[in-house]
Amino acid sequence: MDTGNAKKLIDFIKKSPTAFHAIDAIRGELADFTPLRESEPWRLTPGGRYYVTRNGSSIIAFTLPGASFDAFRIIASHSDSPAFKIKENAEVVVRAHYVQLDTERYGGMIMSSWFDRPLSVAGRALVRADGGIRTVLVNLDRDMCLIPNVAIHMNREVNSGYAYNAAVDTFPLWGSEAARGSFRAQIAEAAGAKESDLLGADLFLYNRMPGCFWGAKQEYVSAPRLDDIECAFSSLLAFKAARPGSQCNVYCVFDNEEVGSTTKQGADSSFLEDTLRRILLALGRGEEHYYTALANSFMLSADNAHAVHPNHPEYSDPENHAYMNEGIVIKFNANQKYTTDGVSEAVFHHICEKAGVPVQHYANRSDMAGGGTLGNISGSHVSVNTLDIGLAQLAMHSCYETAGVRDIDYMIDGMKAFYETDIRFDGEGGYRL
Ligand code: ZN
Repeated sequence: MDTGNAKKLIDFIKKSPTAFHAIDAIRGELADFTPLRESEPWRLTPGGRYYVTRNGSSIIAFTLPGASFDAFRIIASHSDSPAFKIKENAEVVVRAHYVQLDTERYGGMIMSSWFDRPLSVAGRALVRADGGIRTVLVNLDRDMCLIPNVAIHMNREVNSGYAYNAAVDTFPLWGSEAARGSFRAQIAEAAGAKESDLLGADLFLYNRMPGCFWGAKQEYVSAPRLDDIECAFSSLLAFKAARPGSQCNVYCVFDNEEVGSTTKQGADSSFLEDTLRRILLALGRGEEHYYTALANSFMLSADNAHAVHPNHPEYSDPENHAYMNEGIVIKFNANQKYTTDGVSEAVFHHICEKAGVPVQHYANRSDMAGGGTLGNISGSHVSVNTLDIGLAQLAMHSCYETAGVRDIDYMIDGMKAFYETDIRFDGEGGYRL
C-alpha cells in the first residue's frame, strides 16, 4: 500500500498539537502565497494566491483566476480537537506531596483514552515585548505529565461503566511537591520570555504518541487529532495541486468546531463571508457580483465520519454506513445537520465518478442523533449549495484515532477534481460540469 501521503499526514499532525500550531503548519505549506491582514486594505491581482488568518487558529486561503470569475469553490474543515485546557491558575497541590495541573474539558472527548499515557503541553503564550505584547507558540514537546488510573483494587467499578468526573478524575500529575511554582516558569521559558512577562496563555494537554501504520496489510493509520486534521491536510494538498480554472478556489480551516463554532474565528462567524466580500471588493466588483457569485458557488464541508465499529456493527445504519479504505463518505441527515441534499450529492457524485474516486453514503442510525459539523453553520452566513463529506474513522474523539491509509489519497483526488471542475447552475435545476 502506498503510504506516501499518510506519512506526510503523520508528520503534519506531529507539527499540529493544537489549532494554533495547525494553522502555523498550514502557513508553512503556503509559503509561496501572499499573506493578507484583516486589519489592512487588500490589493489583489488576478492570478494571485493569498491567505488570511483570524486569531491564529483559523485560516482562509484562495487562488484568483487570471480573468474575471463568477463563482467560488470552497472546502472547509476544522483545526481543533477535544482536549483538556489548562486553567489560568494551573497548579493544584495534593496533601503537600503532589502537584497536579488544573484542567477543564474542551469539547466532548472520550475521557478514558487520556489515562496512563505521557502527555505534554502546547498552545500560545502572550508575552510583554517592546512596550507591547506579542504572541508566541509554545510546545513543551516532552513527556511531562500523566493522568493515572485508580487501581482496580480501589475502584472495582472501573470496568462496569464508571462515570469519570472532570473535577476529580482527570487532573494530570505534574510533579512532586518540589514542582510547586514552576509551571508558569516552564511556559515562559518555552516562550523565550521572563516569567514576569507572561501575560496570558491558551494551553492544552496533548498526546505525544506519534502516528503509526498497523493491520495485516498496514492498512490502518492511527494518530491523535485525525478528526479533523486529516481533512484539513488532504484538502490543503488538493488545493495546492489543483490546476487554476475559471472559478475562485477557497480553502478554509475554522477553529472551535468542537465547542459549537460560535467564536469570532469559528464557522459561525463572519470570517468566510467577510473574506469572500473583500475578495470581490478588492477586485473592484460590486455588491451585485457577490450575490451572483454566491448563487453559482459550491462548498464541501469536510469533517471525518464514523466507520462501522467491528465490535458494534449494530450502532450503524443497516444500509447507509461506511468502512475505512473504501472511499470518501457523503453524509446525509434528514434534519439537515449535514447539508447534503439531492443536488449537492449528484454534483459531487458526478465529479468523483469522473475522477475514479469511490464514495460511500452515511446516515446515522435513525434513533441516534449524531454530531453536528461545519456545513450547516457556515451556510447560515454564506448560503451556497453544500455537501458534507469526511473519511471513515474509528474512535472519534479519542486522543488516538484510527482511519484508513488508502482513504487519504481518495480524499486528495476527489477534492482536487472538485477544485478543477467548473460547476454552472442554470437556476432551473440544471447543472453543467
Ligand atoms: Zn470533526
